[in-house]
Amino acid sequence: MGALDIYCAICGGPFRIPTVGIKSATIQSDNLAWLERLLVVGRNVATNRAYVSGPGTVEDYGWVVVDAGEDVNAPLPKMMIGPSGGKISQSAYCDWGMMGDGSDFLVPFPVHCQCFEMLEKAHAGRTRSSGQSVSLDLEHLRTVMQKMLQGKTDSLGGMQYYEFGQVLGECIWEEAKEVEIRKPYLYDPTAHIQLDVPLRKTVASGELAAVPQHPFARLPTELLYDVLEQITSSDLLQLIDATPAILRRLDTSFWRKRIRSEMPYMLESEIGMPSIEADWKCLFEYLLKASFLVRVPDLKTLDERSMTIASRRRVWQCAQQLLNAYDEISIPSVQE
Ligand SMILES: [Zn+2]
Repeated sequence: MGALDIYCAICGGPFRIPTVGIKSATIQSDNLAWLERLLVVGRNVATNRAYVSGPGTVEDYGWVVVDAGEDVNAPLPKMMIGPSGGKISQSAYCDWGMMGDGSDFLVPFPVHCQCFEMLEKAHAGRTRSSGQSVSLDLEHLRTVMQKMLQGKTDSLGGMQYYEFGQVLGECIWEEAKEVEIRKPYLYDPTAHIQLDVPLRKTVASGELAAVPQHPFARLPTELLYDVLEQITSSDLLQLIDATPAILRRLDTSFWRKRIRSEMPYMLESEIGMPSIEADWKCLFEYLLKASFLVRVPDLKTLDERSMTIASRRRVWQCAQQLLNAYDEISIPSVQE
């Protein structure tokens, strides 16, 4: 891996982790397999139309070999015998000085298949909430990516890649220590998670009565919900700790709504059917901790589910930035 490596334009992550040299048992190659599946967002120079390819893999020197996929605007695959036969084989955007800021070269942007899937879902969610369901405009997306390069040659310069941000462009993926630090964010963000809402611990009524009642706990339900929806998650949790009586007034719909707004990357279908005695606060706290890995003493001790959540949150945030630019940048339509 070196200067000609390419990175995902959405999440900034690599397309492979070398297994030679990294012998750590904590890096399980099965969990990293998704990194190797990429597709490209490109522009067909023959038709001047943007396309998204089918899946493929990275080769050496920033070269990618991908299936043509189903996009009618994709370039014609190579009619040759061998591994590249019937596939699109070309260089992709990488840390390559001669590519300049990307405006002179129509090299395609490589992205993980999973990251593109999350980008599409996030875009669909946005358009649904605004009342008009519109699919992702690839020409617009590709032009936004090109504009966001901002002179950088190894990444979309206008993007914040969070836990990968500070080291992007450096050869960190050959170092076992560096890979292990970022291991949670290398998990497949689209992997299914099963979350069961734990049961509430029984609290003796005397114990509950001994806690002084905050005026909040006596508010009418509708007003209480309105107020709690306005405060941050850490304030909400602190308030509940100080006044446990509030917890008994918060039903399943309150917590589901809170998770939807705070962690929209979690899927409703992943949360099991809670019982009446469900401890939603416990689940909510777990999801927050796993998402941002706050106060985790040793990343090596994390379970796979927590790492999937952390990775999903990071990729989701990256996709949101791209979509913000997508919504804000006005681009004149391409000449036919
Ligand atoms: Zn990615």
